[in-house]
Amino acid sequence: MADALVPFVFEDAAVRGAIVRLDDTVRAALAPHRYPPPLARALSELAAATTLLAASLKGRGSLTAQLSASGPARLAVVECNHALDVRATAQWDEAACSALPADATLALLAGDPARARFAITIDPGDGTIAQGIVALEPASVATMLAHYLERSAQVASRLVLASDAGRVGGLLVQKLPDARSDDPRGWTGIAERVESLRAADLVGVADPVGAIARAFSDRDVRVYAARTPRYACRCSAARAARSLAIAGRDEVEAAIAETGRVDVTCEFCGKRYTYTPDQARALFNAGPPAGAGSRR
Ligand SMILES: [Zn+2]
Repeated sequence: MADALVPFVFEDAAVRGAIVRLDDTVRAALAPHRYPPPLARALSELAAATTLLAASLKGRGSLTAQLSASGPARLAVVECNHALDVRATAQWDEAACSALPADATLALLAGDPARARFAITIDPGDGTIAQGIVALEPASVATMLAHYLERSAQVASRLVLASDAGRVGGLLVQKLPDARSDDPRGWTGIAERVESLRAADLVGVADPVGAIARAFSDRDVRVYAARTPRYACRCSAARAARSLAIAGRDEVEAAIAETGRVDVTCEFCGKRYTYTPDQARALFNAGPPAGAGSRR
């Protein structure tokens, strides 16, 4: 079965939701690097979460979850855009990661909380970037993000994420402003049902629509057309050129002196963009970049 994200609403309660199956997308997004098991699991869950959250982006834009830390994981980034293109990257300490259990929490991966930062960034593509800080808790990625949504976005939310043997799934429900919290048939009942879901209800499901029907068999659920998440990197020669311009002339000259060329490797997909000395130096001359850079 192909990966899918299926939005739905409860007709009898002001609650919306989405379920996602992300097996192939995550497999491809994680393939460029050999991630240690606990980091691969964290990235898988972040991929499901960012896809569920990015599905409600209006217009064009992207949503990024990023952990910067000093522990076994130094960096973990998962990005999903309006088209549900997902990509991921990370930096880590191999020895420290191998000492962790495969189900280590993100807080354990992050190490010293004073030197860790977990942020959600929404870039609508119009220059108005919004960033929120997620409190690192000794809890699952799903719990931390649900708390974040409730606190910063003021939207009551329940999130379940599951990752098992290369299969990744997730489900998000959110209370709309006019949902009555005291109605057990409304938000409360739905939230309790979601909390009772197990990983087996979410991973390896051949049919996400059927999974929704099973989880909420006594509810009136309207299911919308499935969308297709996929792995795709947005790197390009133009972006590589911009990163060289940011790195600066000294760094470029150092690379030329050492190797006779300048390589920019995409940290997400591993693609390499190579510049001759003339092409690299042209980036620093007046005028727009010369569109330099040939892919290898
Ligand atoms: Zn790339």
